[in-house]
Amino acid sequence: MVPNVAGIFARCRNDRCASRLPYVHLRHNGLTLNDTWVCGVECLEEQLSQLFHHSGTPGRRSEPVRSRLPLGLALLSRGFISPDALRAALRMQQECPEVRVGDILRNMGAVNDSQITAARATQWRCPVFPLNEKSLRLNVNDFIPAALLWKHSMLPVHFAEQNRSLYLAFGCEVHYPVIRAIERALGATVVPCMVDDMPLQESLSALAPENEVLLPSITSPEDITRITVGYAETLRASSIRTASVGNDIWIRLHGRQRVDLIFGSDRLIGETRNVEPPESSALLN
Ligand SMILES: [Zn+2]
Repeated sequence: MVPNVAGIFARCRNDRCASRLPYVHLRHNGLTLNDTWVCGVECLEEQLSQLFHHSGTPGRRSEPVRSRLPLGLALLSRGFISPDALRAALRMQQECPEVRVGDILRNMGAVNDSQITAARATQWRCPVFPLNEKSLRLNVNDFIPAALLWKHSMLPVHFAEQNRSLYLAFGCEVHYPVIRAIERALGATVVPCMVDDMPLQESLSALAPENEVLLPSITSPEDITRITVGYAETLRASSIRTASVGNDIWIRLHGRQRVDLIFGSDRLIGETRNVEPPESSALLN
């Protein structure tokens, strides 16, 4: 019988690994970084440094959010409002440009919340998800840290284990670049869907972060690498995944416990919510 050697030994991903032999490492001594394996913290450090120098640090990239169809036209195309109602709403909006057309039409009594949600689903070409008690009991932190959910106004509402599909709900705008980043980070398919904005915001307000460390002012590849390696050692991490989500870098470490590090380009997420995991300061030392 041939033993499963590949399951016991592994090849270090780092090209400059001190060992020249390809399969001399015992797999359980190292850790996985995204979908590859490194033999220890020295090689982890080199790989992370390469990764962040290559992929860029927070704030260097941002894709604009583009809606495909204005909400008023989406409501009109669904037959929820008349052309006259839309014209009246657009006239009012010219006087108060900061008020959204959907809010004006709602205040006029021309549409209700579920019609606005349905029109937004048309706008963003995604389904409406029926929020219920079960979807609100999903432990969202298992999927995405609260800081990122708050920042992008989104909420995991359902996970289909069989095909690893995460249904991610939005209330106004669907952030497709964020969705693609999260798919890579989770190794799962993300299905965007629309829900009524009010219950979404209520659920987001009730969220409690779990072991999230926000580092909004740290943006250099060297600092991000150093801090991540520090956490990896302290946690005895067995796996690390990294993702650029919007202008932030999200790093999820699994080890003695799960910790999410979020390096950001702006201070918004750090100041809007006071997120301090119980062991963050101890872990940093
Ligand atoms: Zn190595």
